[in-house]
Amino acid sequence: MLNHKDLYDNLLQLDGRGYKAYKDIKGSYQFRDFTLIIDHVQGDPFASPSKVIVKVPQAIAQFPPSLYQSPSREIALRDYLTRQFAEVAQNLSSYRGTGKSGLITIVSVKQEILPRTSIFVNEGQIEARFWVGLPARGRTILGRQAAKMLCEDVPELVDRALKYGAIDGKTLQNQVEIAEDADWLRQKLAEKGLVAFVANGSILPRRSGVDPRPLAEEAIAFESPKSLEVEFNCPNSGLIRGMGIPQGITLIVGGGYHGKSTLLRAIELGVYNHIQGDGREFVMTDPGAVKIRAEDGRSIAGVDISPFINQLPQGRSTQDFSTTNASGSTSQAANIIEALEAGATMLLVDEDTAATNFMIRDRRMQQLIAKDKEPITPFIDKIRQLYTDYGVSTILVMGGSGDYFDVADTVIAMENFQPFDVTNQAKMIAQQHLNDRLQEGGETFGQITPRIPLAESIDPSRGNRLVKVKVRDVDEVAFGTEDIDLAAVEQIVEPGQLRAIAAAIVYAKTHYLDCNRTLPDILDQIMADIAEKGLDILTEFPQGDLVLFRRFELAAALNRLRSLKVMV
Ligand code: ADP
Ligand code: MG
Repeated sequence: MLNHKDLYDNLLQLDGRGYKAYKDIKGSYQFRDFTLIIDHVQGDPFASPSKVIVKVPQAIAQFPPSLYQSPSREIALRDYLTRQFAEVAQNLSSYRGTGKSGLITIVSVKQEILPRTSIFVNEGQIEARFWVGLPARGRTILGRQAAKMLCEDVPELVDRALKYGAIDGKTLQNQVEIAEDADWLRQKLAEKGLVAFVANGSILPRRSGVDPRPLAEEAIAFESPKSLEVEFNCPNSGLIRGMGIPQGITLIVGGGYHGKSTLLRAIELGVYNHIQGDGREFVMTDPGAVKIRAEDGRSIAGVDISPFINQLPQGRSTQDFSTTNASGSTSQAANIIEALEAGATMLLVDEDTAATNFMIRDRRMQQLIAKDKEPITPFIDKIRQLYTDYGVSTILVMGGSGDYFDVADTVIAMENFQPFDVTNQAKMIAQQHLNDRLQEGGETFGQITPRIPLAESIDPSRGNRLVKVKVRDVDEVAFGTEDIDLAAVEQIVEPGQLRAIAAAIVYAKTHYLDCNRTLPDILDQIMADIAEKGLDILTEFPQGDLVLFRRFELAAALNRLRSLKVMV
């Protein structure tokens, strides 16, 4: 194998030549403390930067096995090192010429702790996958700059980010312990009959709609009402108290601007673990929780929305309903049925993003527009059946309609950002002021029939490329010749998740779409493959930019593919 001296000399010799000559440096190099693999070399200074892998033996990195002995710890350690790496890389990066020249980057992260393909840790070694912008002026190689970058900065990066000695051991220890507790606690929720937990002292509000870090000042810490308070004795952190949300139907009520949506948002993201200092480290939610909203304009492929929508004008079937342009109510109905098909065990709904005519239909409206003239069976008449028939709980933010008091098990009022248990009051009011609504939901919720997606309806190719996918932030993925709009899928938090989801759809097509397997079957298979063999199975070559996703978000992307067809 070549060594760092060879690389250094080679880069100096490339100085002044055309950019394409960089292709020469592809290969492996032995450095004093690590192996450097230049995996892919970019074609020009503006192209996606070059892919680099570093492997540091544990004999040198020296991370104590206690930091990665359980899956929870291992994921937290890898997450921590990704962040550490990003920080040092940013520090060392400097513009050294044209385009991305001189930049060292690793996959981008937010507040969640997630398994990513950026860093791997085992007893043998630490592996980091990242990108370097090979320096050039115009299209002329800056060999000296490149030599400094790869042979001096990268070793420094390894020293400062990938060696235990250089890292704040206490903070790291804390992080892995918190993550382990979080996973443990999330697993205990069902045992206590809960679907969510919000620890006392949690900080829920964020800095802004585009900045997910905790609101710094003025944030009011969460404090559970006594009647809903539960405690957990966590393996590492000891006793933690907070509000437990019981299974069943929970309403979050309260005046506008009193923190309802903020609480629900924290619960939505409680399916993931959070980094230290986030404020939501101990907000945990049933891992099967899916955020549901209206999403007019989306496409729908053969979904049985008949539990909610029937007798459309022109006699259109709602048992295998397809459209290229759903309305607010049909999109929300499809979002629910698709979530159930994918195995959701809890729904989260916010009135801010729900279709009103899907949520409520009061007595007066029932009188004016008879049931046989209204295709929609409102959610209020189905929410209870969802729980009794399928065990699916719902948490619903509903400041606008007291009709829901009748169907709620728990009512939490947010007042000045603090929760109060108003269940008894709400029940009393419901008895005093009968709303006289007619139940429109029938006896049962209705069947959920799994669909069989057709392979030929999924085509990732574009032009002469067999697979062409490109992700734009967390909102959109260009898949072949189509753009999948995921702006309404709110539990996707990192672009890397979308990248992995796009890869998983391609993987599904080649491995499991056979006109036999149902969508839930396919999701089972893919998630099992990833759990067993890691995200790398999704792509032809190892990538550093994939992030683990849930089955629900994978299903959501597939369901929003406008070309999707299912067996009839
Ligand atoms: P609602 O849904 O009840 O109308 P929101 O949850 O949207 O209210 O919150 C309104 C505003 O208050 C938001 O800007 C939010 O960041 C802020 N906020 C929410 N919770 C808190 C809190 N605990 N402390 C301080 N500000 C908060
Ligand atoms: Mg709101």
